[in-house]
Amino acid sequence: MTFVPPESPSRLVALAAEDRTLRITRRSLRVLSLLLTGVLLLSVLMTIVIAQRQNREATEHDRQLLRQTWLARQESMLTDVRDYAFWGEAWRNLHVTLNKSWAWDQENLGPELYKEYHYDGVFVVDGQGRTRYALIDGRLSKLSLESWLGPQRAARLMRDARRLNHAALVRDMVIERQPAIVVAAPVSMGKAPNLPIVPGPPSIMIFVNLFTPEKLQALGRMLDVRALRAAASSSDAALEPRLLQATQDDQPVVLRWQSKMPGARLLALLLPVLAAMALVTGWIAHRVSRQAIRNAVLSDRRFAMLVISQQELANSEARFRDLAEAASDWIWETDEQGRLIYLSSRFQCVTGHTVADWTGKHIDRLLTHPSHSLVAWLMRQEENSSSAPLRCQFMSAQGERRIGHLVAKTIWHQERCVGFRGTVSDITQGMEAEARIHFLSHHDALTGLSNRLQLQAFLTRHLESPHSASPLAILSLDLDQFRQLNDTWGHRVGDQVLCQIAQRLQRSVAAHELAARLGGDEFVLVLQEDGPEAVAQRCTRLLQEVQLPVGAGQHVHYLTASIGIACAPQDASHPEALLRLSDMALNEARAAGRNRWVRYADNMASQHEQKREMAWRIEQALHNDEFCLHYQPRYQLQSGRLAGAEALIRWQPATGQPITPDRFIPLAEENGLIVAISDWVLARACRDASAWGADRYVSVNISPVEFRTTDLVQRVARALANSGLPATRLELEITENVTFEHPQQALEMMQGLRALGVRLTVDDFGTGYAALGYLKSFPFNGLKIDRSWMKDFPESPQAESVVAGIIALAHAFALTITAEGIETEAQLEQLKRLSCEEGQGYFLGRPVPLAAFTALLDATSHTSRIRA
Ligand code: C2E
Ligand code: MG
Ligand code: MG
Repeated sequence: MTFVPPESPSRLVALAAEDRTLRITRRSLRVLSLLLTGVLLLSVLMTIVIAQRQNREATEHDRQLLRQTWLARQESMLTDVRDYAFWGEAWRNLHVTLNKSWAWDQENLGPELYKEYHYDGVFVVDGQGRTRYALIDGRLSKLSLESWLGPQRAARLMRDARRLNHAALVRDMVIERQPAIVVAAPVSMGKAPNLPIVPGPPSIMIFVNLFTPEKLQALGRMLDVRALRAAASSSDAALEPRLLQATQDDQPVVLRWQSKMPGARLLALLLPVLAAMALVTGWIAHRVSRQAIRNAVLSDRRFAMLVISQQELANSEARFRDLAEAASDWIWETDEQGRLIYLSSRFQCVTGHTVADWTGKHIDRLLTHPSHSLVAWLMRQEENSSSAPLRCQFMSAQGERRIGHLVAKTIWHQERCVGFRGTVSDITQGMEAEARIHFLSHHDALTGLSNRLQLQAFLTRHLESPHSASPLAILSLDLDQFRQLNDTWGHRVGDQVLCQIAQRLQRSVAAHELAARLGGDEFVLVLQEDGPEAVAQRCTRLLQEVQLPVGAGQHVHYLTASIGIACAPQDASHPEALLRLSDMALNEARAAGRNRWVRYADNMASQHEQKREMAWRIEQALHNDEFCLHYQPRYQLQSGRLAGAEALIRWQPATGQPITPDRFIPLAEENGLIVAISDWVLARACRDASAWGADRYVSVNISPVEFRTTDLVQRVARALANSGLPATRLELEITENVTFEHPQQALEMMQGLRALGVRLTVDDFGTGYAALGYLKSFPFNGLKIDRSWMKDFPESPQAESVVAGIIALAHAFALTITAEGIETEAQLEQLKRLSCEEGQGYFLGRPVPLAAFTALLDATSHTSRIRA
């Protein structure tokens, strides 16, 4: 499966929130806002349009009304003129003759026409075009029609009117800037009989109605038309609202008025309402959109959280699945009765059983415990939520018994246990490894015998148990020649020998006893034997077992062993103490010549104690500077010249007698203190000798033990460097024993020392057991004949021939020979004769403190001769 690495939740939330709902909401809100704005604008537009239309309609209405009124006026004026003109009396009094009395006085055509009918001008023009009767503003006037209307208009009016036959005409005109309706009709006799007929054109009766500003205002008031007036100029006449009445002149009648503008009122009423609505709607929309965006962000966040949760859930599931598949453990689940309802796929890999085979079966059948019913144990988990895992067993499909660690948890649903689930780890391998580790930690890896830990535990168990009353014999067993065998034949052969000896020892002990190897060739046997004879018999048999030939490598080896015995409870009852005592007894067995057993005795402990005390005193002596050096002069025998001196250590404790080197050097070699002592001697001897003159050397004794440590060359080099003594003036005396313990290591060290420039001399030659061949193999410069050979020299021919032989041998190997322990002149003379090169002894000079030796140097510097 692909595991999607978890993104940071805040980033995912941000990403998701950026999308989806928020975008949709923003878009919807934008559309909604646009719609709202559109609706509002449309409303405003509609209102304006309606208002304009209302305005237009109101204007049109006024215009129609005015036109109607105008026409109605024309009509009524036509009626009036016809009534007056088609009248026999008018014919008789105005056409046939002009009877002003009839017309004016009798008021047939008099002032009432002005007062009642508002005719501003009333004219009667005869057939020749003369104005015979004129009323202007209700008063008789001499003015002619031409003067009123202008000659052209008057002539045209007359001409048109004369063409009429019993009809009237109406003309619109502008007279002195005032609109006017002019009606004209030929005067006729009407239906009156017996009227005189007058030839010629008829007289024409003309009524003029001038629309003065006052009349227009009155008309406007009557018609509810505001500020009705005549157009003041041609530009004014072009403006709306207007009523245009064409005339036969260039100048039309134009009425102007003020529109009532009902639309403006509508606008004034509706626009603030709409504006308020727009504001309120805008505010609400703003609030709603903010809320909507907030909700959208919230919803997107929730969605993102949901996505993340789902992702995490998926990851968690995948993780669980991977873990369940990859883990060495298998996962199980049961119902509340312990019937298996789920087993992870690892179950099959680990146990070899198929999941289907076990689903539905009781867990008790799969897993067993020697003392528990598993279901009962599971039930107990209910009460104890943190119980430890249970170690149980199951059988694999291959029939192997496996061990598992069962961990279980109760499944709760609504505070009711509905089942159990947990894991089983197969710990079989771990257990086996643990057992192996336990075995290895308690056994020696090479031989398989018990090791120190097991020995300790065994001893503790037997010694501390109140029931174990049987006595124990602890045998420390060491192979006598094992180190040489190892050095000679190598570690592989050594290991084979150790294994065979271990097997023999193991066979020699009973089941309730113990054979252990502590390391190297150190073995310990714990026997449960009663009585010294029985122990002695067992030891004898053990020594015989060891002595049997051992075949290892291509050779057969013959070994012996030394045994030290300590018994519990007689000697001690503590494991440590018993082992220490058996070790002491072993040392005694070794010291007594090996290949034997020695039982621990009380005095061994006291000797051991003495040695420990001595070791402590040596340490204190080093610390308190209780050592000093004496120098014993060495002479060249032929010339008698003082060649150098041997440094010999002296110990003068703060209290008590001086202690000779024979008493503390072997002990210091045993416990390792010899290294510290030797360092001190080297440093002091080099420092002292550096003041002795250019060609005198100092000879320092080095213990063979020091050749077992690895840093001898460095220590010597350090002493030389610190003192400034040239290496050629330092001689080291080494006993021949050094050559058979670790010969290879000793050889390498000697070569290192020679490389420094230091001289090496064999000390006490003739006392050791080394083969003469080592003189050739090791880089010695000289040898010192041990002083024991001087005892009978030169009296005994035997001693003399030995000394002479040694001297000849040394010469043969080109070694400088020094005779030790020269006590008599005879010895000196004889040695000279035998061509012995150098000598030292009480006869020549005893070991003396530095001051005395320096005085001797001074005394002999002149003679450079043996004082004797
Ligand atoms: P060594 O190296 O053989 O030292 C010579 C010993 O013989 C010295 O004894 C010396 O005093 C003694 N001696 C010298 N001339 C005569 C003589 O004419 N007759 C007799 N009877 N003895 C004579 P010392 O000083 O008691 O030393 C004993 C041994 O102690 C030395 O034997 C040496 O092995 C060891 N030793 C002494 N000093 C040191 C030291 O600084 N380091 C080490 N590792 N060993 C030392
Ligand atoms: Mg010596
Ligand atoms: Mg010596």
